[in-house]
Amino acid sequence: MIKKFIRRVFRFGSGSEPRTVPKEQHGVAREAISQGSRKVCEVLHSHGYEAYVVGGAVRDLLLGLRPKDFDVATDAYPEEVHKIFRRSRLIGKRFKLVHVMFGEETVEVSTFRARTATETDEHGRVLRDNIYGTREDDAIRRDFTINALYYDPAGETLLDYHNGLRDLQRKSVRIIGDARARYREDPLRMLRAVRFAAKAGFSIDERTRKPIRELAHLLENVPPSRVYEEMQKLLLSGHAATGLRQLRSEGLHHGLLPLLDVIIEQPMGERFVTLALEQTDSRVRSGKSVSPAFLFAALLWHEVLAAWKKAQQRGQKPIPALYEAMDTVLDIQTDKLAIPRRLTAVMKEIWALQPRFEQRSGRRPFGLLGHERFRAGFDFLVLRSGSGEAPEELAQWWEKFQQAGEAERQAMLMAPQPGEARRRRRRRRKSALPPPDTSPA
Ligand code: ATP
Ligand code: MG
Repeated sequence: MIKKFIRRVFRFGSGSEPRTVPKEQHGVAREAISQGSRKVCEVLHSHGYEAYVVGGAVRDLLLGLRPKDFDVATDAYPEEVHKIFRRSRLIGKRFKLVHVMFGEETVEVSTFRARTATETDEHGRVLRDNIYGTREDDAIRRDFTINALYYDPAGETLLDYHNGLRDLQRKSVRIIGDARARYREDPLRMLRAVRFAAKAGFSIDERTRKPIRELAHLLENVPPSRVYEEMQKLLLSGHAATGLRQLRSEGLHHGLLPLLDVIIEQPMGERFVTLALEQTDSRVRSGKSVSPAFLFAALLWHEVLAAWKKAQQRGQKPIPALYEAMDTVLDIQTDKLAIPRRLTAVMKEIWALQPRFEQRSGRRPFGLLGHERFRAGFDFLVLRSGSGEAPEELAQWWEKFQQAGEAERQAMLMAPQPGEARRRRRRRRKSALPPPDTSPA
């Protein structure tokens, strides 16, 4: 079965010569590529090897976008590349790569890969392959035609094996070879198709798009850490709102983020998530930094709210119930999408701050203001109030409280709520309660 798939992939474009496109036609001058990748290509050439800038960087340059990083493909073996560049590191188990460092820049150098997958699991997913091949082989192993363009900085020419340039002009994401076979080899390619379409405003070619719904379940076999990386790229692409909408319309959202399963039935959750995504997209597009922890906290907040409510209905006190809810949601989530621990720690802090915004008497607001995560917590509150889940008046109060001088702050303080004063006199249980206020009033 798998052999048949591979044969089909083989036939497609095998033995074909690339189209060589001169600079006058593609318009990318060598100055457009990073100094590091240019230098890597030059040095490899001088040692008698081939070297090209490939993948996302070439695609983005042709689209007039600024590439995030530059990858180089070569016929030199990783060990040889490592030997040539003093400041380099051999990395990777599944695929050996070399990272070459130039000042701040790191250029990823990979050796042309062979076209045959060596070891697959029962679904046809590639588990290991470290066998090298020719440039043609390498091109056929890439995922989409727009990602399989090879730029030669020396001659400023572009090598196009699979009509990638035509697809760029047509604004189409098209897989190389047989879509089903390629998705079975690596189901993550389905997510990648959606990500590239959203990022570039392209559509997904019909034959590339069609099998996705049927094969979506194969994503369950992909290691969660790879899924996480791909999702993070999608969410921070500046086109997260479009991307998630498309994931949903292709049937790819199930199990990736539980929230994506339920927002359709939860109008409030949808409003909240849409706001969070739009805000993130506009920050990314204007070159501002965004926090993945904040975004993931937002994506999962309505899950936390639902679990929190349930825990309270079982008779738990509000704060311990919130902590339990956060763990429940993160445990379920981590099975599918391994959100790194450093992020989940921050997400929990943001969530745990939310009930503290309701306490506006005595010294507590001052303590909260001095909290390390106050800004993120407050921005989160603003989102909640923007979506109608928290009172607008609450977010406005905190906005004003931050701006106000000392006397005005004192005047803004409210009388303690009935429960608040009592709770304060009781001994706090370390694990279940937020840290006590420490900053001076
Ligand atoms: P981005 O700019 O978002 O990083 P990219 O195209 O550079 O996009 P990478 O994940 O960095 O994406 O991969 C670099 C290149 O490696 C791709 O352009 C593609 O040619 C190839 N590639 C990456 N992942 C796969 C995959 N799962 N299957 C086949 N080829 C892949
Ligand atoms: Mg890349």
